[in-house]
Amino acid sequence: MSYSQYLLELSPIQSWLKPVAIPLVIGGPCSAESFKQVMDTARALFESGKVSVFRAGIWKPRSRPLGFQGAGEEGLKWLSKVKKTFKMPVAVEVAIPRHVELADKYDIDILWIGARTVVNPFSVEELTKSLKGIERPVFVKNPINPDINLWIGAIERVNKAGIKKIAAIHRGFQGLTRTKYRNEPMWEIPLELKRLFPEMPIITDPSHISGSRALLKDICQKSIDFQMDGLMIESHINPSKALTDIDQQITPAELSRIIDSLIIRKKRKTKSFNTLDVLRNEIDSIDHELLGILAKRMEMAIKIGHYKKENNIDPIQPKHWKKIIEERISFGGSSGLDEEFLRELFDLIHQESIKKQNDIIKKKD
Ligand code: PEP
Ligand code: MN
Repeated sequence: MSYSQYLLELSPIQSWLKPVAIPLVIGGPCSAESFKQVMDTARALFESGKVSVFRAGIWKPRSRPLGFQGAGEEGLKWLSKVKKTFKMPVAVEVAIPRHVELADKYDIDILWIGARTVVNPFSVEELTKSLKGIERPVFVKNPINPDINLWIGAIERVNKAGIKKIAAIHRGFQGLTRTKYRNEPMWEIPLELKRLFPEMPIITDPSHISGSRALLKDICQKSIDFQMDGLMIESHINPSKALTDIDQQITPAELSRIIDSLIIRKKRKTKSFNTLDVLRNEIDSIDHELLGILAKRMEMAIKIGHYKKENNIDPIQPKHWKKIIEERISFGGSSGLDEEFLRELFDLIHQESIKKQNDIIKKKD
């Protein structure tokens, strides 16, 4: 498929975002929680000299209508104060036209559209209507599902509304199973976006990719190695007390240490990433999913093991297994997988499941 029928009209990032340091870092809490938390975090980030833009969620897209939903309009006042005190541009997430209206009223510098909004073209369309005439940069996060067209579609809609100061934010994607990441990075997708739209800056959000502090540094380094254009990192003055995304927020001092540890290598042509690096990254993601699925299958075998024990059923059921293996060979064969390979693979999986079930059955209650 060709994307050339719609060329984005973009202003170069240098014309609207002046980084105070390299790499460009957007930092701040997942949510604005109180005036003190916002000001203390902003002060520490400002004093680090590494953060170019202060971010904070004001309206939080929570899975359930319980707990903290964001500070709302009150939070915008705190961000205005950050902007005035530290002369740092401030950024918030907007999900509905009313958010855009309020962000405009409080002179918020940058708006971003979150992953849950980008999945719905109707929501993006409504939002972009309210963006018309608003001369503010807009960041577009990737949708939750790994669909590059949905991401490009949202960017195109924002661009069509007259916004030329656009950056994409890569925050990872939901894979088939849970891996060590909260959201699979699937680097091949932002790299493909970069190949299609080389003028558009792409900012990596390692916080939502990792979901945990321990993985942040590696993702930041990978983002630098892939020559992405910046980092958006969640930072909270007291992460263990955070009201949202408690496991992934770091203190401003930790953020500073991570940035200092990054190795900035010589620039390569982005095109050259389109070969082995990208393919290997894709294989990494696929293997992670494969391992996740395998673990899920083993959990299921264990559940069945308990059932067999309670009901006095032998773990080995040759007739049933014969039926299963034939079905798997025919199913896998229709995707072009070799019969012998499938037989060996499923024999191995079966042996491991039986071993686990025998352990359960032998174990005294
Ligand atoms: C956020 O950045 O706080 C956020 C809600 O992110 P996402 O839309 O990527 O989940
Ligand atoms: Mn968050």
